[in-house]
Amino acid sequence: MPKNLIAIYPGSFDPITFGHLDIIERSCQMVEMLTVAVLKNPNKTPLFTVQERIAQITAATKHIHNLKVDSFTGLTVEYAQQQGAKILIRGLRAVSDFEMELQMAHTNKTLNHTIETIFLATSNEHSFLSSSVVKAIAEFGGQVDHLVPAEIAEALRSRLSPQN
Ligand code: ADP
Repeated sequence: MPKNLIAIYPGSFDPITFGHLDIIERSCQMVEMLTVAVLKNPNKTPLFTVQERIAQITAATKHIHNLKVDSFTGLTVEYAQQQGAKILIRGLRAVSDFEMELQMAHTNKTLNHTIETIFLATSNEHSFLSSSVVKAIAEFGGQVDHLVPAEIAEALRSRLSPQN
């Protein structure tokens, strides 16, 4: 892949997990600049605010230099166009992700044919990891330190632990 590519990695990141971070690190080795873009979705009630998620992602990626963290609302392809990005990065875990991701990639292509979606297959150890699973474990007081960065595990404990 040519190194001068600008890419967007859009998602909810509520919160960011080691699965997302794996995709981010691998993408950053392939592109010139990656923007991790937190979607402000009015139809979802997130656990962490957009500002909190931006702060969490920024802290978790401070060792990566060709990366920006931002938020956006509306169509991903329009945001990508504004940023001068030609690539959307998405992660694929199991077959269950595939149908939805393919539909989204096709839809985005019809909206803007100059923007390509590139899928990175998750690393084996993260294939069953999702933000929802992490929240479900934390809600019942389980350990999530092996799934998310330490500060996020702490934030989950204080916000979700059963005694709160
Ligand atoms: P969305 O709500 O748009 O699915 P997410 O924050 O859940 O946003 O995920 C953003 C992207 O990261 C999606 O492409 C998703 O498939 C991918 N992703 C999520 N968890 C993992 C993981 N454990 N390994 C690889 N990719 C992942």
